[in-house]
Amino acid sequence: GTVLIGGGTGFIGTALTNGLRRRGYDVVLVSRKPGLYRLSWSDLNKNGLPESTVAVVSLAGQNVLDPLRRWTEGFKQNVWASRVNTTRYLAAAIESAKVKPQVFVSASGVGYYPPGKEEVFKEDGPGGDFDFLSQLCTEWEGAATLPDDIDVRTVKIRTGVVLGRPGGMIQQLIVPFYMGVGGPVGSGNQPMPWIHLHDIVRLFIYAIEQENVTGVVNGVAPQIITNRDFAKAFGQALWRPSFIPLPTLAVNLMFGQERAKIMTEGQKVWPQKALDTGFTFAYPDIKSAAKEFSRLIYAD
Ligand code: NDP
Repeated sequence: GTVLIGGGTGFIGTALTNGLRRRGYDVVLVSRKPGLYRLSWSDLNKNGLPESTVAVVSLAGQNVLDPLRRWTEGFKQNVWASRVNTTRYLAAAIESAKVKPQVFVSASGVGYYPPGKEEVFKEDGPGGDFDFLSQLCTEWEGAATLPDDIDVRTVKIRTGVVLGRPGGMIQQLIVPFYMGVGGPVGSGNQPMPWIHLHDIVRLFIYAIEQENVTGVVNGVAPQIITNRDFAKAFGQALWRPSFIPLPTLAVNLMFGQERAKIMTEGQKVWPQKALDTGFTFAYPDIKSAAKEFSRLIYAD
């Protein structure tokens, strides 16, 4: 069958596409840029799902931590619309499809949960209502919710920081860490919810294939760490010191306080549902994960 991935050209989407193709699926992407095995968003809105679509995945989103973009009202609107509207378009295409796919899997973020060092949040934890990013997660998950009379399983994966060599945070940090000038953000005591790229890809495929997986799923590793633990593991894997802290003030100035929170604060999140439904992690601890994502030469 075919899996349709909105935003499938990105960091997670590229790895997911490769993983799905290896398992024998046909993959079609919805993208703003034309190409082979791609639809535009207006193609999707006009023509609906491709034939024999068995699963739909929502992964589009303007990069929140793009250091070249200032955190203005206009940029925030882009960040919001690139997630909520694209997810709505996919939901609408599912609603109007004559032959329904089996499952709709959408990304969301752990930014749903309030930051803090005490409580550990499972999927039924509170949140979604206290700042820009948490409210965005609520709307995003709302956009991925299909009407009751539509019989398509839906899964929303609240994803932690995805750690993988080809993109995301590691790609931005590997040069300073390799030069030995990496380190924690601020005190480093803030929790850092994380998951290895291979495991988030495996979790999306698990959500597509396992009928007992429904609703919200926390996409984080089963090891709660701090930002300092991350910096230490990354430095050790590269055989470099990693104790030079990045001052919170600098991060706030660079990114604007509202989104700097992604680095200066963090949530303690537990993957209860993944573990309960039988998912196993390939990289359950930051040390084994760091060994993999610190390779200087990589494929995939
Ligand atoms: P990427 O930054 O790689 O972007 C994914 C895709 O989104 C891009 O390839 C692009 O596709 C599309 N996109 C970007 N901007 C826009 C826009 N303004 N309008 C429409 N589409 C746009 O994301 P990741 O793969 O890292 O993440 C996928 C999703 O998971 C995102 O929504 C992200 O918020 C979420 N997530 C990611 C985490 C991470 O650590 N990486 C952590 C938590 C959540 P194209 O150019 O082909 O149109």
